[in-house]
Amino acid sequence: MTARVLVVDDTPANVKLLQVRLTAEYFEVVSATNGYQALELAERSACDIILLDVMMPGMDGFETCRRLKANPATHHIPVVMITALDSPEDRVQGLKAGADDFLTKPVSDIAVATRVRSLSRLKLMTDELRLRAASGRHMGIDDPLAAAIQVSGENGRILIVDDRTEAADRTRAILEGHHRAEIETRPQEALFRAAEGQYDCVMISLALNGFDPLRLCSQLRSLDRTRDLPLLLVAESDDTARVLRGLDMGVNDYVLRPIDHDELIARAATQVRRRRYTEKLRDNVQLSVTMAVTDPLTGLHNRRYMEAHLRTLVGQGVENGRALSVLVLDIDYFKSINDDLGHDAGDEVLRQFAARLRSCTRGVDLACRYGGEEFVVVMPETEVPVALRVGERIRQAIGREPFVVGPGRQTIDMTVSIGVAVLEHPDDTPERLLKRADHALYAAKREGRNRVAAEAA
Ligand code: GH3
Ligand code: MG
Ligand code: MG
Repeated sequence: MTARVLVVDDTPANVKLLQVRLTAEYFEVVSATNGYQALELAERSACDIILLDVMMPGMDGFETCRRLKANPATHHIPVVMITALDSPEDRVQGLKAGADDFLTKPVSDIAVATRVRSLSRLKLMTDELRLRAASGRHMGIDDPLAAAIQVSGENGRILIVDDRTEAADRTRAILEGHHRAEIETRPQEALFRAAEGQYDCVMISLALNGFDPLRLCSQLRSLDRTRDLPLLLVAESDDTARVLRGLDMGVNDYVLRPIDHDELIARAATQVRRRRYTEKLRDNVQLSVTMAVTDPLTGLHNRRYMEAHLRTLVGQGVENGRALSVLVLDIDYFKSINDDLGHDAGDEVLRQFAARLRSCTRGVDLACRYGGEEFVVVMPETEVPVALRVGERIRQAIGREPFVVGPGRQTIDMTVSIGVAVLEHPDDTPERLLKRADHALYAAKREGRNRVAAEAA
């Protein structure tokens, strides 16, 4: 996997140094010498990850990071801040500005490559989600990306995994007041707990006594339900080799002992925020999937969905000799509602019509809005006599009581004409089936409307 890395540093020699190292690891490198330039490049989506120098004249790294994270167009790009001193204050300030990670100068080759690899892998996944969530906008969801960056990193639910009770208690005490932390002292149990509970982050001690913590990490990464759960390692300061291995297998972040309180709180917040961000995007994607198969006016399935569903059923029906019926319904004289009472009243009638239609069909039947004032009901395992009876039930449900619409609560008598067709030829297709039902519908209209007609055998 390759990624394009934006290196931001006011000292050309530093840029050059990182460029050489990253290029050797087959990363593509672009560079900027100040914050403004960095914002511009990032906005043009010219990079997958940003290595950002803290000390720069003009706009410093913290401010640049804040602005990157406040912009829905650049919020998702991981930022690694590069500090001259390894100072906890700098790190906390950076985390508060939204930085995803830190490296201290002089930057080690392995550390930078590991970080860039693991963060760009994460970004790849977020990119896909963002793309799909953004498509939601074309379907009428309000700016999904802007909504997603509003999430807070406070009050996350965190699972601490440490078999040394005292150390676990100390970690929990630090998080108190900022996050809700729970302790699991049995590493084997942690896997199940992480899969069952609604955690925002799991903190795993690298100093477990009876279990290999990296094994737990790899198990958490391979399980579907925990694959995206943020993992944070708590490591001894001389254990960087295992930290790097952890990062390579998909661990999201780490802290070193002795734990700096503010840093742990801030790192936890970063993970919680990122978790909620992706969940928000995922909800949006789910919503657009729902919208893609739903008619927005009536809430029934739309034509596209029905056609796909019908194709499957026709295929199965032809193969296994199963019965299958379709009804095509068309509201009688619907145009006059629009003409007399307005388009809104027409819409209201369509909604109420759909509700009555839904109440007449079984769970396995598929009722859809085919378009305009036409509807289709697909009924698996249904022969002509039953289909005619269902059609008749619908016709009565529509004609029995008047519809009440508009601000004036006007009552209108509505009727519907219905055509019925069943799967009968071995070479039947959805198109032919619908066409035969349509012919039956025209017959019903011709014969005076408000009736159910079956196709001529
Ligand atoms: P018939 O008994 O022959 O079916 O007469 P009809 O008036 O129902 O049929 P026609 O096909 O002439 O008119 C259908 C009308 O439905 C025309 C169109 O403006 C209206 N229509 C289609 N979609 C919508 C919609 O989403 N909302 C509203 N309010 N009207 C719609
Ligand atoms: Mg029509
Ligand atoms: Mg009509």
